[in-house]
Amino acid sequence: MQKRSVLKEYFGYDSFRPGQEELIDKCLQGRDVLGIMPTGAGKSICYQVPAMMFEGISLVISPLISLMQDQVEALIQAGIPAAYLNSSLSPSQFRKALAFARQGRYKLIYVAPERLLTPDFLDFALHAAISMVTIDEAHCVSQWGQDFRPSYLKIPRFIEMLSTRPVVSAFTATATQKVREDIMERLELQSPFLLTAGFDRSNLYFAVEAPKDKLEAVKAYLRKNPGGSGIVYCITRKLVEEVTLALQKAGYAATRYHAGLSDEERKRNQEDFLYDRARIMVATNAFGMGIDKSNVSFVIHYNMPKNMESYYQEAGRAGRDGSDADCILLYGGQDVVTNQFLIDRERNNEELSDEEKETIRQREQELLKTMTFYCHTRECLRQYILRYFGEKTASYCGNCSNCKANFEEVDVTRAVKQILLCVHQTRERFGVKMVVDVLRGSKGKRLQTLSLDELSTYGSLADESETRIREIITQLELMGCLEVTAGEYPILRLFRQKAKEVLHSEEPIRMKIVKDVPMDKGGH
Ligand code: ADP
Ligand code: ZN
Repeated sequence: MQKRSVLKEYFGYDSFRPGQEELIDKCLQGRDVLGIMPTGAGKSICYQVPAMMFEGISLVISPLISLMQDQVEALIQAGIPAAYLNSSLSPSQFRKALAFARQGRYKLIYVAPERLLTPDFLDFALHAAISMVTIDEAHCVSQWGQDFRPSYLKIPRFIEMLSTRPVVSAFTATATQKVREDIMERLELQSPFLLTAGFDRSNLYFAVEAPKDKLEAVKAYLRKNPGGSGIVYCITRKLVEEVTLALQKAGYAATRYHAGLSDEERKRNQEDFLYDRARIMVATNAFGMGIDKSNVSFVIHYNMPKNMESYYQEAGRAGRDGSDADCILLYGGQDVVTNQFLIDRERNNEELSDEEKETIRQREQELLKTMTFYCHTRECLRQYILRYFGEKTASYCGNCSNCKANFEEVDVTRAVKQILLCVHQTRERFGVKMVVDVLRGSKGKRLQTLSLDELSTYGSLADESETRIREIITQLELMGCLEVTAGEYPILRLFRQKAKEVLHSEEPIRMKIVKDVPMDKGGH
């Protein structure tokens, strides 16, 4: 059965969501994969569909009993033979399930990580045809994650014992780089295909503005957008008070929320906002946890938050119902100073050593820097955000303030051909940095030792900026001409068929690219 028919027949869906199909294809080709998707993006389909298409059994290692039960119930409902093996079963139920498993009655078997190396289970697993092992909530293998589970560390040993190495697919919603690296290393994934997807919220418009008078900017927005309801996030309680008062004076139904108010008032104000009695909520970041108001049509940040995670989480409270919504950040140089102050002040936790405090402080500095760059970049804001979460996307979204202001469509035919040729000439052995260096005619030592300065493409794009060449490479990836492999030393590989088509095409190739003005340093 084809994957689309499986999707339709068993799950009732007509099409795949972003990323699902690619992950499924790679599994089916026999490659290990690591899929990173936010909660609700649809990770299960990515292993359930290939599980239905493989000959043998697929094991799903999952940390939560309740999760396993829900999943298995849903699969059985859909007509897919599945079972779980965990501590909720009585010994006799367990034996029975295992006996059925031996007879090959299940396509999918969910198992708790603690079970893997137990004699009963091993005896089954070593004699079964296991095509794929899926690791759900894969971040549990990392001590850097929130939910470290030591039994996850045993997974590679279990896999090694199987008579044939199955495909290993791992999934998580965790975005941080450190955890990802840990997953690939500790689960011993073999040159895994890494994919991040589902973080994009295409109905959100992103803007950064640096108005002289922020209050005036908010009022102007409200005048231009009457009717909608939204949140204005401020960095301090004091500011919340000031802005609320000013908006009320100007005749707007605004209410306030911060940790300094009584429980009673917080509850009342929150309900006023939820039930549309107050159109505007002015709040600190204390507001929003667990609040699900679907028709928030704007989130204005009166100040820059301390990092991108906070920003995206807060801004993401807009447009939950899928309708168009605005996420506007009002930036001022003072915001950097205030955040800096908060970072320095927070370190009075007595349980931490001075060294640990310093490490945390430095880490927060880094995150603040990345947030500040967001406010200064001229690139597409959506791309900046998604790149931060590790998701590949076009460098032009058309729905952010930078795309509206700073982009031009340019003919990149020559650059594209030189890039593809260069990857080919260097025999697909190098990463983006080296390819860019060759194209720009860099005088690097390693490059000369390898005689890469003798290639015809050496220096052929000396007149293009590094940023621009990187941008074009990303777009070539999205076009399916190239891929940057996952793993410790990512290298550029060609997809020959597609690359050839592009190389030999007579048509000019045009891309939307950020206008080439003198670049600010940093190349972020
Ligand atoms: P995750 O494990 O990533 O949190 P799930 O796998 O539970 O997410 O999927 C979330 C929801 O999205 C489920 O209701 C699922 O049925 C639905 N879903 C997944 N893939 C698709 C698809 N291709 N089309 C429509 N709905 C989908
Ligand atoms: Zn954009």
